[in-house]
Amino acid sequence: LFVTFEGGEGAGKSTMLKMIGSELRARGYPVLETREPGGIKIAESIRHIILDKSHTMMDARTEALLYAAARRQHLMEKVLPAIENGSIVLCDRFVDSSLAYQGAARGLGIEEVYKINEFAIDGCMPDVTLFFDIKPEDGLERIAQNHDREKNRLDLETLDFHKKVYRAYQKLLKQNPQRIKVINADQNYDRVRNESLQALESFLS
Ligand code: C5P
Repeated sequence: LFVTFEGGEGAGKSTMLKMIGSELRARGYPVLETREPGGIKIAESIRHIILDKSHTMMDARTEALLYAAARRQHLMEKVLPAIENGSIVLCDRFVDSSLAYQGAARGLGIEEVYKINEFAIDGCMPDVTLFFDIKPEDGLERIAQNHDREKNRLDLETLDFHKKVYRAYQKLLKQNPQRIKVINADQNYDRVRNESLQALESFLS
């Protein structure tokens, strides 16, 4: 079972991924928690190129291609082998993040970014995606209160940027109602956790 966790800033998806992972393990399921590039050497090297601040000339399409390349390697080396071994894979961000961030917010176009990702993942879409839904204003407010270390990066990405991300996710939800389950992230962790587990229940055997 391949489960991806998606959402904007301050949605709490990474915390929730850990909570769901613990819960499923406690129920006896083998679980792999991961996020791209996931400690995969080739994917880490690609990520290093993307994040290298001296590459001031990096073109947006180059960046999107590199994200897709790192995704492919992480998928082949880590995600697919774990699924074949019968594990439940919980992955923090996947294709939908690229569609929302590179496609919509950075302006490359959702369709364009989908095309290169389609090539990269070659049909390996998640069985189910949990979208942690919180308004961008509220998510950013949470981060401002809780994570000082994130402030600098977030200052660079304006509220307008995060609204674009949010609108893109809304569009993806409408287009993929079967795959993407909306979780109300604007409530306490216990409730978010219960809603998330409920959304996964029918996929667990
Ligand atoms: O998952 P997390 O909230 O830690 O993501 C951190 C940031 O990485 C996002 O806010 C976004 O700026 C960036 N990102 C991106 N494109 C992706 C995935 C993440 O720009 N495909």
